Amino acid sequence: MSKPSKKVLIFLGPPGSGKGTQAKLVAQKFGFGHISTGDMLRALASKSNLSGEQQEAVTLMKAGQLVPDQLIYSLVFSEILQKLQSNGGVVLDGAIRNAAQAAEYQKFFENNNVGKEVLAIDIELTDAQAVARLSGRRVCQKCGVPIMPEDKREVHETDGGNFIVRPDDSEAVVKQRVTEQGNAALEPIRNFYRGLNALRGVNGNDTVDKVAEEIEKTICS
Ligand code: AMP
Repeated sequence: MSKPSKKVLIFLGPPGSGKGTQAKLVAQKFGFGHISTGDMLRALASKSNLSGEQQEAVTLMKAGQLVPDQLIYSLVFSEILQKLQSNGGVVLDGAIRNAAQAAEYQKFFENNNVGKEVLAIDIELTDAQAVARLSGRRVCQKCGVPIMPEDKREVHETDGGNFIVRPDDSEAVVKQRVTEQGNAALEPIRNFYRGLNALRGVNGNDTVDKVAEEIEKTICS
């Protein structure tokens, strides 16, 4: 089996592009660590005794808005180092949402001698396609795996979790998220990685298997 050519794989794409699903598949397939800032924030939301800063982040997350950059860094940087050490590579899923974050992460990677190990995979989907997908999807309450509207299952057979509409997938919040985190917001991030010659685009408007195949080809070449 060929291996990814880089150790730090950054998944970009509008909400609903499938970046979470694809990032998990890549991490599983190659034994890389997987970090989703969205999952980390949702885990925070289910805890009590949050600090004021954490509570504010959870409130923003639930409203479909971005949480402050500094909180993301404090959640994620030590986790990245740990995964690089224990897994030899890391997949970042939705962890970079603006150009300032991209630059700050890159500084962090360079300080830790993996600046040249970065590859950003951009899962391409239009904003309209993103809204259509998110408006109909439900996710497993336990593991977060998404299913599409035509899938009528109530319970996830592998872990017993109920399929629910994520609080930030309600119609009004979906529109807000796609406005704030869709293609217009992604373009400066793409430009940052283009400037490093570290951006690869993949067509996201296809089945999970087809997209996964294209991603594998891209990261292993
Ligand atoms: P996701 O599950 O990746 O769609 O993330 C869910 C929500 O978490 C987003 O809509 C944001 O509110 C928040 N979030 C996740 N990652 C970040 C980040 N890197 N910067 C700011 N907010 C984030």
